[in-house]
Amino acid sequence: MDPERAQMLADIAAETRYVARTIGRSSLRPEVMRAMAAVPRHRFVPESQRRFAYSNRPLPIGQGQTISQPFIVALMTDLLGCGAGDRVLEIGTGSGYQAAVLAELGVEVYSVEIIPALAAQAAQRLQALGYEQVHIRRGDGYGGWPECGPYAGILITAATPQVPPPLLAQLAPKGRLVAPLGPMYGSQELSLYERCEDGLLHHRTLLPVAFVPFTREKEGDTFA
Ligand code: SAH
Repeated sequence: MDPERAQMLADIAAETRYVARTIGRSSLRPEVMRAMAAVPRHRFVPESQRRFAYSNRPLPIGQGQTISQPFIVALMTDLLGCGAGDRVLEIGTGSGYQAAVLAELGVEVYSVEIIPALAAQAAQRLQALGYEQVHIRRGDGYGGWPECGPYAGILITAATPQVPPPLLAQLAPKGRLVAPLGPMYGSQELSLYERCEDGLLHHRTLLPVAFVPFTREKEGDTFA
């Protein structure tokens, strides 16, 4: 492995240990770490950011949006607990990086992005890199992608005060949903929902995080 990627993995491992008490684990699953090592992050950032591609921090990707910090991508992937053959819904494709990490695990990814230019770019990029099991749709992800559900996992990668109800409805039995919940500007809590066999949802919060806001297509649309 090239030294930059090895350093990124070491940084992810170190940060995981640092927050071990808060997140309830001191390491991430080896297959998640392998997926992080496999995805060429430098292909998901603009030319001007390439030299920072493997540093453990978020980077600007244009349109006022960011590619998430590698540690957060790894943690969210680990929390989702999905693997080969599972269907996962992502709201907020952004660069397509998180979708590629999921694809490396054998997951069938359905990803929705509200900004047309980002959706188009990510689709092109993922196709060029051969990630054929990632499906991208442009639109407001509030309503999810019901035609292809239910999903074993749902990831929201933009900050929202609460989980849009249509998304919870698309979560399969035993499915997991991971999202940054809280005010759209400032600090949110990374939250995990799990649909138990009795159909009830269990919820816990894990870690303070800072994501770009979840936006709505039509002005006046709410989150309720
Ligand atoms: N997962 C991305 C990073 C996401 S940044 C990656 O790996 O690069 C958050 C993204 O969510 C932004 O691209 C933003 O445009 C998008 N977004 C915000 N609100 C949305 C909505 N309602 N539906 C779909 N995408 C949304």
